[in-house]
Amino acid sequence: MNIILAKPRGFCAGVTRAIETVERALTKFGPPVYVRHEIVHNKFVVESLRKKGAIFVSEVDQIPEGAITIFSAHGVSDRVEDDAVARGLNVIDATCPLVSKVHREAKKYEEEGYELILIGHRGHPEVEGTSGRVKKEVILVTNEEDARSVEIKSPAKLSYVTQTTLSVDDTKKIVEILEKRFPQMQQGLATKDICYATQNRQDAVRSLSKMVDLLLVIGAKNSSNSNRLRDLGEECGLPSYLINGAQDLQPEWFTSAKNVGLTAGASAPEVLVQDVIEKIKTLATSPVKVSDMDGIEESTFFVLPRKVRK
Ligand code: SF4
Repeated sequence: MNIILAKPRGFCAGVTRAIETVERALTKFGPPVYVRHEIVHNKFVVESLRKKGAIFVSEVDQIPEGAITIFSAHGVSDRVEDDAVARGLNVIDATCPLVSKVHREAKKYEEEGYELILIGHRGHPEVEGTSGRVKKEVILVTNEEDARSVEIKSPAKLSYVTQTTLSVDDTKKIVEILEKRFPQMQQGLATKDICYATQNRQDAVRSLSKMVDLLLVIGAKNSSNSNRLRDLGEECGLPSYLINGAQDLQPEWFTSAKNVGLTAGASAPEVLVQDVIEKIKTLATSPVKVSDMDGIEESTFFVLPRKVRK
């Protein structure tokens, strides 16, 4: 049996930066450091940081006054920032710079008087953060049906931003509907806010799916970009499973599979990929050969927040 590894896969630059921010803060300031929300959507990562002294909370009012506080890679709203200031928290912002870019874009549209659509998943922390960066009401569009029915007050001055980790194909379809309904809205920029890591991992799965008969995606159930990779595998006609790690593998998946595609979402560490490979070797009915697909090398790198730079 062959295991073909997606390239690129796993950690993106924003996740690497967020995790290193917590690790550096623990070293520099000593434990505990408080982190609002899971720093990235991966239990393995969160548990390893918890063991080192990070305390994860859902809101800043759970953090003692003056404590070191890290905002997760998904970003926060103005209200959360204001609450942190009011509590005198010592904030280190690990929001991914590509999410911050969408925040700035949303604010700019608001200042210029646009009505603003946000395309994204209801309840996702990034969507809550981006909506909370503008004072006016943001119109959330979650799917094609919403795009067909959404009511706009001033179609002549309408703009949109999106979550960074959406399906490229689904977003194009949603934007196409909006562009037809609202011709004065910005045109032809459907994927402008979907980050490079999301796009590259989806492109890799699209290519990989032509070579395999089963797709495994390592990622958390609440990881948007990982879910999109699994969805894409299914759309390509493959049995596709989202797994937390080796513990979720089912022996029956490997009884007839000859070529297994393996990828990892942007918040899943490489150690989990290696664990999965080792476990598959014990479940396979024939010797296992592991190879990397041809794919692009990513070189994107984000500098750390100032407070944790050396
Ligand atoms: S998935 Fe994209 S937006 Fe999210 S942290 Fe990674 S690079 Fe940033």
